[in-house]
Amino acid sequence: MTLLNGIGVCPGIAVGPLVRMPDPVPEPSAGPGQVTDKNAERSRISPAMEAVAAELRARAEKAKAETRAVLEATSYMAVDPGMMDLAITGVVERNLSAARAVFEAANTFRDMLAAAGGYIGARVADIEDVRDRIVAAVLGVPMPGIPDPGHPFILVARDLAPADTATVDPEKVLGFVTTEGGPTSHTAILARTLGVPAVVATEGALSLKEGTTVVLDGGAGTLNAAPTDAEVQDAEKRMAARRGAKKTWSGEGATSDGRRILLLANVGDPKSAKAGADAGAEGVGLFRTEFLFLDSANEPTVAEQEEAYAGVFAAFPDGRKVVVRTLDAGADKPLAFLDQGDEPNPALGVRGVRVAFEDSGILDRQLQAIARAAERSSSDVWVMAPMIALASEAEWFSGKVREHGLKTPGVMVEVPAAALNAEQILGVTEFASIGTNDLAQYTLAADRMAGPLAALNDPWQPALLKLIGFTGDAGEKRGKTVGVCGEAASDPVLAVVLVGLGVTSLSMSSRAIADVGELLRTVSYDDCKRLAQVALDAGEAQAAKAAVRAELPQLDELGL
Ligand code: PEP
Ligand code: MG
Repeated sequence: MTLLNGIGVCPGIAVGPLVRMPDPVPEPSAGPGQVTDKNAERSRISPAMEAVAAELRARAEKAKAETRAVLEATSYMAVDPGMMDLAITGVVERNLSAARAVFEAANTFRDMLAAAGGYIGARVADIEDVRDRIVAAVLGVPMPGIPDPGHPFILVARDLAPADTATVDPEKVLGFVTTEGGPTSHTAILARTLGVPAVVATEGALSLKEGTTVVLDGGAGTLNAAPTDAEVQDAEKRMAARRGAKKTWSGEGATSDGRRILLLANVGDPKSAKAGADAGAEGVGLFRTEFLFLDSANEPTVAEQEEAYAGVFAAFPDGRKVVVRTLDAGADKPLAFLDQGDEPNPALGVRGVRVAFEDSGILDRQLQAIARAAERSSSDVWVMAPMIALASEAEWFSGKVREHGLKTPGVMVEVPAAALNAEQILGVTEFASIGTNDLAQYTLAADRMAGPLAALNDPWQPALLKLIGFTGDAGEKRGKTVGVCGEAASDPVLAVVLVGLGVTSLSMSSRAIADVGELLRTVSYDDCKRLAQVALDAGEAQAAKAAVRAELPQLDELGL
């Protein structure tokens, strides 16, 4: 067995041949005087465009209705006569290479689309994709994007860009392994959304031969690059076990001895809220409201916000809990309508609730919209602030929430100071929800977006677990709810540890709910506390995870 270690970001086993993600198509050189035979050069353009259009049409025929329309529209774009003329002119009049001429012609069209704005402007990414495909066809290099070898496979990549992730078909991609990326990278988020086993930051994975059969273990965070027949059979058994276990999920989170742990969904809009409800979520533990407005040039009106919030509440009626987080703008989530100026270090700047301290207008309008939507619905609406550091901030925010007639204000614990002072903070607010993504980056002083620092951001880091334990203890003392809504809660084994640290609700990607629920009901609360201590006593993240996993033989049966 040749075992590569990485960071598991979505549990489950996958067995299959390795297929490599092609490198991005390079920008063709703009150097002058590249062409000696203009006729030969210009004659390369139209066949390349035709070939790309034909490939897109073929994919459209096999695709489901929604994707089919997009692929068909894109196939017309690939043979647009205006773009072809412009590219040919580039060769004939400016002496550009065919690849460069196509690149520039497509960019001219892209800029025109972008200027049109609205729905047409949203096609910018499509034209860039078409551009790169035609350039690849001209240069004779592999097409960009997720490969389609015609059989299921395990995808190995440096990392995945957001644009790649839209075209992943979970029927074909059995698992992901990347050499870069971290626990909150796009690959990790996509894998959890699709429920596909994934391991990131796996050094050496790109040197493996294409077509090799490998076993990927998203729970343990390993890639077995040379499995024996027995290991392949064992992996297949575990995959089947997981499929079976998922079907029996009852929908109510609890330990084996009946300690209730609410299992909630992280959502960003009405559609994901509905998916959460369908996956058996008992409510919403984190509604990231800024996701609705990432593309808005102007602040949405109170009425627009009210509609959007009401859409999410509608997925969880009849007193079910929906925790709304007020806008978390800044750093990794910039909002166009909120000019935050140039900050030398945005992650440590005026982000999250801090935006409202100077001028609370945006927060007041948002709370007004949440209150109106809550009034129209039968959900139990809670409201929390991101990036709280001090008890006085928590008190100020709680006052604001109550002023708007909303009864349950709370805070996110994502700054170490808030965890250390959780008892004081929980004295002035109703609940806390731990955001492990930010709490990890601030505790370990490691940018959550920085691939090379992925291991520091591993939510199994014992220092992070200690801060979670402080917050859990404070919740017990104050008799207040302490949840986790960061990605840590999506890892079923870590979820057991979090419960042992005093956490009373877990909010996660919808796909993770059944796995977390199934494992949780096999352990008692005392087990959880004992395993939390095992993790705290381990020196570092990998050791903590391995030590806890070794104590849970049922993971095999559950395919985790
Ligand atoms: C977190 O920081 O853990 C969190 C849940 O918030 P976000 O990932 O949106 O910053
Ligand atoms: Mg956060």
